[in-house]
Amino acid sequence: MNNYHINTKCIQGGYVAKNGEPRVVPIVQSTTFKYDSSNDMGDLFDLKASGYFYTRLQNPTNDAVAAKIAELEGGVAAVLTSSGQAASFYSIFNICGSGDHIVCSSALYGGTYNLFAVTMKKLGIDFTFVNPTATEDEINAAFQDNTKAVFTESLSNPSLIVLDIEKFAKVAHSNGVPLIVDNTFPTPVNCRPFDFGADIVIHSTTKYMDGHATSVGGVVVDSGNFDWTQNDKFPGLTTPDDSYHGLTYATAFGKGAYITKMVVQLMRDLGAIPSPNNAFLLNIGLETLFLRVQRHCENSLAVAKYLENHDKIEWVNHPELKSNKFYDLSKKYGATSGVVSFGVKGGRESAVKFMDSLKLAAIVTHVADCRTCVLHPASTTHRQLTDEQLLSCGVSPDLIRFSVGIEHIDDIIADIEQALSQV
Ligand SMILES: *Cc1c(COP(=O)(O)O)cnc(C)c1O
Repeated sequence: MNNYHINTKCIQGGYVAKNGEPRVVPIVQSTTFKYDSSNDMGDLFDLKASGYFYTRLQNPTNDAVAAKIAELEGGVAAVLTSSGQAASFYSIFNICGSGDHIVCSSALYGGTYNLFAVTMKKLGIDFTFVNPTATEDEINAAFQDNTKAVFTESLSNPSLIVLDIEKFAKVAHSNGVPLIVDNTFPTPVNCRPFDFGADIVIHSTTKYMDGHATSVGGVVVDSGNFDWTQNDKFPGLTTPDDSYHGLTYATAFGKGAYITKMVVQLMRDLGAIPSPNNAFLLNIGLETLFLRVQRHCENSLAVAKYLENHDKIEWVNHPELKSNKFYDLSKKYGATSGVVSFGVKGGRESAVKFMDSLKLAAIVTHVADCRTCVLHPASTTHRQLTDEQLLSCGVSPDLIRFSVGIEHIDDIIADIEQALSQV
């Protein structure tokens, strides 16, 4: 489908029905697959033949949906995971282990920060957090001999900082490691990090991709562009794997090496797969991704402009506001979304009063679905973080994250207006 426009890929990518087969990606809700002989199955276990045998490793529904997302991002291969958290973990753990080190932008989703700074640290993997607006020299200074990757968000949740992807890619590559980008907020409809030098993209598909708040999920996509054999930093890909009779992924699978290793090793051993039923729901979401993302972005910019002129609002952050310091970067990379953040005058207390007065917009621990929703990160998703950590993630204590849905814009603004009048 490579020559089609992205909205066509949203609808028809990843799955081609053969003669007499279902028009819609079918839900193959089966843990296992039958073979005529033990030999047939043995070849699958040795990776000599490709085919399905157990859904923890591969499943036709999951694979079709992963293939669609790979097409949307312009990558060569992808794998679905059971959550965005699993995707972040796998994307890094696939190429590093205890004793290794990762350079990471500090503007991160709170869950990712905990995963890296607390849980992965316990596994012996160290992270150095750099400011997302750091200079090349400052990013360079964070590297160590054991650094294996750079991890960033294209548009950070919830701080809405736009990453200069080309700058981070350049520094990563000059140090011989890949750039991994969490592209959850812009989605490939707005931003395709591979066009700017990123090597791996991950998503929480729970957000815009599913779009209806039905299924938690994630995906890891490989551009196929990073040469794992250029140095000796990635022995997991360039030296034999004893658990597959000495097979070497980079030699056996070329551009598919990174995702193949993730499937046959990490999925085999850790098993964070989505259910085929969830993948089916994700696929229905993807079919309307293009339409929905356009409307989300139009609506969020309209809300941002409305708030910018309101005398009860202290500050507004939306990358497409002309006054925003990331405006130019946002236009360059397409880093925008349906999310706007702001502070109500009067701080934390006013934030709570405002949120409790909303009628259409619901207070939920969610973002980026078709219904308008709102959250106060400092008291919820980022509750674990100290004030210092909060600020280093770009989250001020009064920050309200407003995820603008695809309802009629007049109804959304009327709701905000009546809630502000209560403050
Ligand atoms: C929600 C989110 C995650 C985590 O994804 P889950 O699907 O909730 O596990 C990771 N990154 C970003 C940017 C997110 O918004």
